[in-house]
Order: sequence, then C-alpha cells, then structure tokens
Amino acid sequence: MLGAMQDWTMRVTHVVDHAAREAGTREIVTRWADGSETRTDWAGVRRDALKMAQALQALGIKKGDRVASLAMNHSRHLVSWYGVAGMGGVLHTVNPRLFDDQLEYIVNHAEDRVMLYDVAFQPIVDRMKSRWTTVEHYICYDSGEYSQSFEDWIGEQDGDFEWVSGAETDPCMICYTSGTTGNPKGVQYEHRSTVLHALAGLQPSSFNFSASSVMLPVVPMFHAASWGLPYAGGMAGIKFVFSAVNDPAVLHDLMIREGVTDSAGVPTVWLAHFQYCDKEGIDLPPLKAATIGGSAAPRFMIERLMKNGTRVQHAWGMTETSPIGTVGGPTWNWDQLSFEEKVEMTMKQGRPVFGVELRTVDLDDMMTELPRDGETSGALQIRGPWIIKRYFKAEKDATNNEGWFDTGDVGIIHPDGTLQLTDRTKDVIKSGGEWISSVELENAAVGHPDVAEAAAVGMYHPKWDERPVLFVVRKPGSELTSGEVIEFLTDKVAKWWLPDAVEFIDEIPHTATGKISKKDLRDQFADYKLET
Ligand code: AMP
Repeated sequence: MLGAMQDWTMRVTHVVDHAAREAGTREIVTRWADGSETRTDWAGVRRDALKMAQALQALGIKKGDRVASLAMNHSRHLVSWYGVAGMGGVLHTVNPRLFDDQLEYIVNHAEDRVMLYDVAFQPIVDRMKSRWTTVEHYICYDSGEYSQSFEDWIGEQDGDFEWVSGAETDPCMICYTSGTTGNPKGVQYEHRSTVLHALAGLQPSSFNFSASSVMLPVVPMFHAASWGLPYAGGMAGIKFVFSAVNDPAVLHDLMIREGVTDSAGVPTVWLAHFQYCDKEGIDLPPLKAATIGGSAAPRFMIERLMKNGTRVQHAWGMTETSPIGTVGGPTWNWDQLSFEEKVEMTMKQGRPVFGVELRTVDLDDMMTELPRDGETSGALQIRGPWIIKRYFKAEKDATNNEGWFDTGDVGIIHPDGTLQLTDRTKDVIKSGGEWISSVELENAAVGHPDVAEAAAVGMYHPKWDERPVLFVVRKPGSELTSGEVIEFLTDKVAKWWLPDAVEFIDEIPHTATGKISKKDLRDQFADYKLET
C-alpha cells in the first residue's frame, strides 16, 4: 500500500519560487569590481532567472547541457544558479584560479556550451578561447566590449516561462575538485541532493539562518557550490550581500553599512580581515556567526572571533560532499563549558548534520571500523544523500560496496560524534609502522612567532620507512634556525614525531583553492635525501 501525500518533486526551482513568494522584497546587494553597487531582491532574482532560462533555450541549449560560469560573487551569478537549473541545464562553476591546463581540461571535459564570465577574467577568456573546443557562446556578466552583456542578453526575453520539469535525480550543477593529484574530477550535484543539502544547511547546528539573517559569503561561488549558501539562503529568504572583490577593506565597509550578521570563508579570509582591522586600529565587524571551513581554523582565530561575540561554526566538507559534512555548533553542555573548553571544542571539526553518516577505518586495510573513542585515528569515510556516488563520466562508482566514500582525510571520532581531523591519507607520515600527523606538526610549528608557514612531509628513511621533514617559511627579517624550531616543538609533540630535518624555503606551493600543495612540494624535493 502506498501513502497518500502529494507529489512534490525536489527541484531547486522550488527554492527560488519560495524565496520570491515569501521573501520577495528581501534585498540582494552587490558591490561590483568597479566600485558600483546594485540592489535587487528575491523577486528580481526569480524574474531574471526566468528570462535567463528563456535566453538559454533561445541559444539552443538543451536539458542536461553544461553552462559554465567564470565569476566572483554577485547577483547575476546568483541568477545563473537558478536560471541554468530552471531550464534543465547544469551550471559548471569554474575556478578562475586554476592553471591553464586545468582550465582547458575541465571545460572540455564538462563539454560546456556557454561561458558566462566577469570582465575581470577577460584575459583568461582571450587566452583559453582557442583551447576550449566545446564553448559556442560567450556572455559577459558586465557590460563588456568583447561579448554580449548579460543584462542585454536576458533583456531580450519577456520572462514568460515555465521551469523545465524533470526527475529529482537530474543534475543541476557540476563542480570539479581542486585536483591535488591527477586531473580534476567532476562532481555532479542533483536537484534532490541539492535541496536536501540546503535543508541541512538550515539546521540550527549549521548556518542557523532566520528571516533576519544578513549573509555576506566570502567563500567564492565557484568553490564547492559556495557551501550551498545560495540555496539555503533562498529557503530562509535571507538578505545577501555579495562582493565581487575580496579586499578586506571593501568587505569590512559592506559588513558595517549593510548590517551583516553572518559570513563564511576559509581561514585565510579571516586572517586578512584581522590584519586589516589591526592596521586600521578598528574593531572586527559585529557578526553573530562566522562559518570557517576548507582548512582547519587555528586557535587564535577562533579565540579572537569568540571574544568579539561571534559564534564560530567550524565546518568540514569537500566538493564531493556538496560540501557540508560536519559543523561545529554549540554542544548540549555549551553553557557549562569554560571559554577555554569552548575554544578547544571549536577547534575540532564539529558533528555530522542529519543526513550524513561518518566512520573511521583502519588505515592499513581500509576496512576495519575503528572505535569512536576520541583517540584512535583512521581513514574517514562518509555516506548520505548528498555525498558523491560516481565522478562525472567515470565508469566505476567512487564508493565501496557498502556505499561509503573514502574522503582521503584522516581523523578521530569522539564519543559524542565530534570529528577531529588529523591529516590527509596521502600526507600522514608512517615511521616505523606508527603514524605521525603532518598537520599537527605544522600547527605546532606555526605557533612559533617567527614562522610564517610550515609544511611537514614524510621522506624515505632506510630504517623507519619514512621520517618527517619540516619545510618552513620564515617571517620577513627572521633568522630562525633549525635548532630553534626543534626546541620549540619539543614540548608540543611526541619525541619521535620531531622532524629529522628543518628546511627553510622562500615559498610553500599552494593549490588553486589556497591549500598547501604537498604534491608540488614533494615534486620540488623529489631528489631530497635525509642524512641518516
Ligand atoms: P575541497 O574539495 O577543495 O573543498 O577540499 C576538501 C578538503 O579540504 C577536505 O577533504 C579536507 O582535507 C579539507 N578541509 C575542509 N574543511 C576542513 C576543516 N574544517 N579542517 C581541516 N581540513 C578541512
């Protein structure tokens, strides 16, 4: 026997319909790269998305076709998220910081037919045009002199359009992984997975939006679906404030003027904001909540934001997980914790939101499930309705036969479900059969006032298999020695974790999303020999 409730296909167009109907006048503010500002609202976003869907059809774009964007955060980009999905297309948000070979690979691999881009990225378009073999149409988000402008293009339509219907499992967006090994891989989000993920983003333990929330997302719209914010924000009908530039002075000014209550970004974004406020001798903006993810949020950052009265939501996830996996909202006993205990708790990566399951398994056999004892670390696996099943165009599933996706991260699960990340599977250092966390070594080293950045890598050792080498970038003017670094680390990590060598370098290589690229570092030091 079947139940007897109504059919309601989970499509992301419901989100913008709801936002326009229930929060139609709630503002969407954009500060553009040229310094100008515009205002629209959720009703305007829907109106333009309908016109855009029509305009795409007029170009001959069909259901399932990929439409690329090469753009920062702004209202026209938001319109595209709904406009492309609304005509049954798949939006491919391209990261403009990728290298040319990666840009060529992902656009051709996705077979993008349209390229929507910011005029700031005109040089990329000029450089890549002859290499992008599937792109037929170029549309500039700004009033460009080179391609038709977005406003003119959608302005040709009357908006009399019905969203294209289809199955919940139709794709609506594709994001490529940042590709620390091999070619980037495409993760295709579905309408259903996106709606469920956005609902998870609304949980009080996640973004905790209410109708009065004003969110300035610093996380780019091209990074892991902007953590789902454009959808979760639509569901809650919040006010969005977008900035097409990431200059902390601009962000700060917008946060104050527009009454921003919430923001989200990777740790480097917050660091830049702190530096700006220190230089100007001004207070941090009075945010209610700050979401930090993409890399581990360091202690001093959490402390400073919390002292500012800002709730810190330290989140873990990845492109393959849409990306919300865990978020660090207040625990049941939050009010009974001391400030120091709250900071300690927030440094961990939070607890799984409803919908995802986590487990850790033995790093050697990748099968044996490990206890959630707050001590044993292992390979982190995840499953749930917004977690990847198969990469785009891949022949095999990315999951094991029980549906678990191996994240490539290494972590500890605590008895209360809190996740504590300790490393990446490929970066963890195996010395004499025991594991050393490269991340913990690095975190300890950056606590030294003369260390600007540090990266620990396992190097071949004839007796121990691997031993840690610490690469350090000194702060300008510092004459820090390797002996001083080791001495500093002595009471912070186990004795056998202490690096066998400390090498000072001018720069540590980074990926397009700003993470340390251990792969490039290993390539750079491929001939390195430890003195034994
Ligand atoms: P991406 O797909 O580019 O978003 O990268 C995902 C990876 O970033 C994860 O697998 C983690 O290694 C890392 N990551 C994300 N969030 C955190 C966090 N809060 N703490 C530490 N590492 C993180």
